[in-house]
Amino acid sequence: MIRLNDILDGIHSYLPDTDTSLVEKAYIYSAKVHAGQTRLSGEPYLSHPLATAHILTQLHLDLASIAAGLLHDTVEDTLASLEELEKMFGKDVAQIVDGVTKLSKIRFESQIQKQAENTRKMVLAMSRDIRVLLVKLADRLHNMRTLEYQKDNKRVKIARETLDIYAPLAGRLGIGWIKSELEDLAFLHIYPEEDQRLRNEVEASLGKRKASVDEVKDLIAKKMADFGLSCKVLGRPKHRYSIFRKMRIRKIPLEEVYDLIAFRIIMKSAKDCYEALGIVHSLWKPIPGRFKDYISLPKTNMYQSLHTTVIGPHGERMEIQIRTEQMDAVANQGIAAHWLYKEGKIVSKENKHQFDWLFELTEWQKELDDPREFIESVKMDLFHNEVYVFTPKGEVQEFPRGATPIDFAYAIHTEVGSHCAGAKVNGRIVPLKYQFHNGETVEIITSNKHFPNRDWLKFAKTGRARTRIRQWIKTEERDKSLALGRDLCAREFKRHRLDFNNFIKTKGVEVAEALSFKTPEDMLIAAGYGKVATSQIIRKLRAGQPEEQPEEQEPKEKESRVKKFTEKAEQQGILIHGLDDILIHLGKCCTPVPGDEVVGYITRGRGVTVHRENCSNIINLDPDRRVEVTWAGADNATYPAKIRVSTVDQKGMLAAVSNAISAGEANILEAKVTTTPDYVAILDFVVDVKDRAQLRKILSSIRRLERVKLVERISPG
Ligand code: MN
Repeated sequence: MIRLNDILDGIHSYLPDTDTSLVEKAYIYSAKVHAGQTRLSGEPYLSHPLATAHILTQLHLDLASIAAGLLHDTVEDTLASLEELEKMFGKDVAQIVDGVTKLSKIRFESQIQKQAENTRKMVLAMSRDIRVLLVKLADRLHNMRTLEYQKDNKRVKIARETLDIYAPLAGRLGIGWIKSELEDLAFLHIYPEEDQRLRNEVEASLGKRKASVDEVKDLIAKKMADFGLSCKVLGRPKHRYSIFRKMRIRKIPLEEVYDLIAFRIIMKSAKDCYEALGIVHSLWKPIPGRFKDYISLPKTNMYQSLHTTVIGPHGERMEIQIRTEQMDAVANQGIAAHWLYKEGKIVSKENKHQFDWLFELTEWQKELDDPREFIESVKMDLFHNEVYVFTPKGEVQEFPRGATPIDFAYAIHTEVGSHCAGAKVNGRIVPLKYQFHNGETVEIITSNKHFPNRDWLKFAKTGRARTRIRQWIKTEERDKSLALGRDLCAREFKRHRLDFNNFIKTKGVEVAEALSFKTPEDMLIAAGYGKVATSQIIRKLRAGQPEEQPEEQEPKEKESRVKKFTEKAEQQGILIHGLDDILIHLGKCCTPVPGDEVVGYITRGRGVTVHRENCSNIINLDPDRRVEVTWAGADNATYPAKIRVSTVDQKGMLAAVSNAISAGEANILEAKVTTTPDYVAILDFVVDVKDRAQLRKILSSIRRLERVKLVERISPG
């Protein structure tokens, strides 16, 4: 069992004069809260955080990571809380523990190959601080080393997850030894028979070759010495999983895997490495095409080494790697090898590029901001624009950040999308606007009575969902407009004592084409939308005949000097039976604002005009043309409203009233002053307000002004 001193010794080996009290404090705390807990192996639970922290010292990590390693299971498995950890050990440690806890809560089960990459991305996305992932890897490594105590089904599951997710991530971070060890341990549990057979065969094969392995090592050392080069020669068997993979991929038996042993020559300098290469090639014949110079062209994860394969003394292939001590450290520890240089210091210019490989991991980092910023914060927020969630079957789905159940539903199928009624996230019912978090499991609830509506567009983040919702709304609005247009035309025809049904049958196509519509249906839809007037249709029908006056007159809206209204009035903000794309005018006579009771009036050829309910202009209108309208939900639009203020005619009154309006955060579009012979000033304003409540506030604040006699909202009549 690892002891605290092993960890402290480890730290002092790479941070000689560091104050390790943080780690010691974490140890005491962890021992206290885990007291009495045991592992499946029967060992005290504390052995696990100790082993995890020890692995982290082998990665030469900073003190916060090592403390987090000691504490990583406290929040999950004991009464400890994150707040407490933050108070005692600081924000860094608490955040790392939090990240590891969140990762540990997720079970990545039965991942098919295609899913595995997404899952790896999810893990990275959740480990915003790279140290979270490193602690998680150390945790997983120790759990894999003690996996034999787990129940069989759980054992294989964990091993599978390790092979699919964590070993490749260790590889991406360039930590070769963790990757190999995780792979071999997983291999042992997933393919126990193959593993045993391979163990035996490799051992037998190596036994036979033992003499020649030693012979090669000695020969290399001697030759190097002859040339005055000092070196260290290692000959170690390749790890079993990589042999197994090679046999599988190439479909060959073990006898044909020649390079069971990789020789490694560690030199003093890069220059020595090239000299050593020359010596090796003079000793044995190199196999063409197998030489790789990763010293002058390092891999993206900063791996540096010379690789060559030669025909050995007994005619077998031998793989030989030549590198310096420093390069060897990088090969084993990846990003961790550079940690030390960063810790407590400003990263020098030369060192900055050392982290570049993180950006080149894959093409993942397309959206990445300034790389330097990234290095400074050591955050691994590579996927801040994405969110990963599970289907109930455990498949990982990728969505843009902010995605909601609607996006998820449309990703499954359009039908599921257009009947989406809600969703369960981790078993809990959530509203449609709920935004996913990484790692959640999502289940869609559908209902035949549910249909898309315009509000959904506010929640949908994916293009697919938005397009489908718009299509649905468009189709539905078309149907409604057709019905409305047909209805309007029928009435207008009746007024003119014409037979509408007969017209459609006999003259429909002709008139529609004359008005540049493809079909009579399109014409009626346009009439429903208010884009073409029913009177226009009749006029076309009677082309050449003298026009008959309709029976009634539309109210003439008073020409206002406030011309600006017209453009502004066409904004959205009014809903007409859920119809879209209808021309809407707000009545210039009564200037309705949100919050007012309003009615719509279908005008001939100019869409719908919206009036306040008590507007005198609408009272005399044909009730058949009235349509129910409501204000749409809050938007940022503003609406003009007319107000009149009567004051004592005195200097400064206009300014005082204007100030009151501005204080109410409304813009004044227009102001006009008239004075009467009896020294009363009439101030007419057009102000731009969001709604009735805002207007009311403004009116009452004007009322409170001295010398103001009367304040009113102008309505016609
Ligand atoms: Mn653990």
